[in-house]
Amino acid sequence: MARIGVIALQGDVSEHVLAMQRALQGKGEVIEIPKAGLIPSCSGLVLPGGESTTISRQLANSGMTEELKAAAKAGVPILATCAGLVLVSKDIGGDAKVKPLGLMDIKIDRNAFGPQRESFEADLQVDGFEKPYRAIFIRAPAIAMAGAGVQVMARVGEAIVAARQKNLLALAFHPELTDDTRFHQIFLKMLEA
Ligand code: GLN
Repeated sequence: MARIGVIALQGDVSEHVLAMQRALQGKGEVIEIPKAGLIPSCSGLVLPGGESTTISRQLANSGMTEELKAAAKAGVPILATCAGLVLVSKDIGGDAKVKPLGLMDIKIDRNAFGPQRESFEADLQVDGFEKPYRAIFIRAPAIAMAGAGVQVMARVGEAIVAARQKNLLALAFHPELTDDTRFHQIFLKMLEA
């Protein structure tokens, strides 16, 4: 049975727990991960949105950084959203307050949409989706550059806002805040693989 761990240091943890429970429909459990020692027991992980500076510091302090890196390397599927997307990248353009985990071959632009577009919604054309996906962006970062091994799934203008590399699914928006579970379904398929 699937056991999904939501990294519970800061950010919209409870929304992610509820959204994942909805998507799983009883076919697995969701736990919150506030400290080291639990990550190795999970078959899938979620890195929520929030403040990447804070989450980055707390990951290091809690000893979870190495556990996360080991899980990613072992092929455990990871859903990274918004601040989580910043954290899984390998390059955030010289912002010393955040230590990215370097799990995905992407470069981040943390202020991709500027302060005047703090939050907005957009209908995305997503690779493999028949109908547009209505996405909620909140002070969203974007992927400015993606390596050859990264599958780009959606863009807003030039900015990449959804991408996949092997066991990592990274989204600049908040799939946990809408009823549309299509990105969660992709993640659950990754678990079965
Ligand atoms: N801009 C935030 C950061 O860099 C992310 C915002 C969010 O997760 N909603 O941490």
